[in-house]
Amino acid sequence: MLGEIIAVGEEVLAGDVINSNAAVLSRRLAELGIFCRHHSVVGDDEGDIVELLGKASERSRFILLSGGLGPTKDDLTKEAVASFLGRPLYEAPELKQGIIDWFSHRNYTISENNFKQALMIEGGQALHNNNGTAPGVYVCDEGVHYFLLPGPPGELIPMYDDYVKPILEPLRNQKIVSKTFKLVNIGESQAVTVLDDMMTYSETFILAPYAKLGEVHLKATAIGQDEVSLNKKIEEVEKVIYDRLGEYIYSQDSDDLVDKVIGLLKADNLTFGAAESCTGGMVADLFVSKPGVSSVFMESAVTYSNSSKTRVLGVAEDTLATYGAVSEETAVEMVEGVMERFKVDTGIAITGIAGPDGGSEEKPVGLVYIAIGFKGRVWVQKYNLGGNRDKIRQYAAKRSLISLYNKLKEIYPS
Ligand code: ATP
Ligand code: MG
Repeated sequence: MLGEIIAVGEEVLAGDVINSNAAVLSRRLAELGIFCRHHSVVGDDEGDIVELLGKASERSRFILLSGGLGPTKDDLTKEAVASFLGRPLYEAPELKQGIIDWFSHRNYTISENNFKQALMIEGGQALHNNNGTAPGVYVCDEGVHYFLLPGPPGELIPMYDDYVKPILEPLRNQKIVSKTFKLVNIGESQAVTVLDDMMTYSETFILAPYAKLGEVHLKATAIGQDEVSLNKKIEEVEKVIYDRLGEYIYSQDSDDLVDKVIGLLKADNLTFGAAESCTGGMVADLFVSKPGVSSVFMESAVTYSNSSKTRVLGVAEDTLATYGAVSEETAVEMVEGVMERFKVDTGIAITGIAGPDGGSEEKPVGLVYIAIGFKGRVWVQKYNLGGNRDKIRQYAAKRSLISLYNKLKEIYPS
């Protein structure tokens, strides 16, 4: 049960105010068995707050924010959380009335910006402030609970005790069971369309897509008190996902695509090698980053220049002169060289234009040829990849791995 506290405010950042709110909240959360691994302080900047929320929501289930709920323009916490969650802000009539009553009771004049405190995040719940004008906000999104509390300790502490603690108490015993399904050869939008009726973000079940480089991950999360029924729910969902998308799923555990490819190579006692031009060793790095790969990974060469393609791999000078280094013909001879000269069963060759310079109308930046070799046979595919140099190189390496995976699956259907 991880909690996290984010203090918002330039004055805390500057050291003019000591972040005592974090200390108080951390101790109170610990009493409920919710422990904090992170305290952060961030200035009154919407972008900075949103960025921090991105990290916090990945690692913590309970996020308590303090400060920035006031009426002035530099109070931005609600705006930042709303924008991070992609939810609109609306003026809540009962909050507006509360503000009018508060001011008229004290005979103070209301200015227009006081009504900023009547703004609510869609789907959120207001937390009453018995000691000031700024209401707090509670909102739950994708199983993460956000509490927005006022900065002054005299307002924050009673609000926590009276309204936050009663919400947290029943939640802290909740269990979470989740499973991630990793897919290749299908785009995020297609996967989401196929599962349209199941993509929900309720309090008890979440199915969310995550687009990764060349892959789509679908994470199913069930939340509740009873672990047995949570496991059952995930099993049911798994059945439906396999029924509809089974052919695209390569993993449903912590293994990534490299692990799976290595697994297939090991299972069939195959040796592997690579020749890389624009990826400069990225494929080799993907393999060598895995322990125990020495039984399958034999050799890889970064053959960047034409002369190296000829000398190391035996690509014909004629081929390079006639078709160019970035061509189907060169990619084919590269992977043939890998199989023959590195004496491996299967291999990858990549040649492409990563940019930003070097492109032409005929051969634009992002043009990449990937050849897969298997026991003397060769398959080659042309790609037009988008993005900057880094992106093109990373994607080309990943793409080659997907091609090898597909080929091994085709040859050894399990
Ligand atoms: P207000 O309506 O008073 O503007 P707010 O929710 O916008 O409230 P801030 O403007 O961020 O809160 O802070 C108001 C005051 O609360 C600060 O001047 C400071 O005295 C106190 N305060 C703010 N953050 C903290 C903190 N992290 N720890 C302790 N005190 C704090
Ligand atoms: Mg303020």
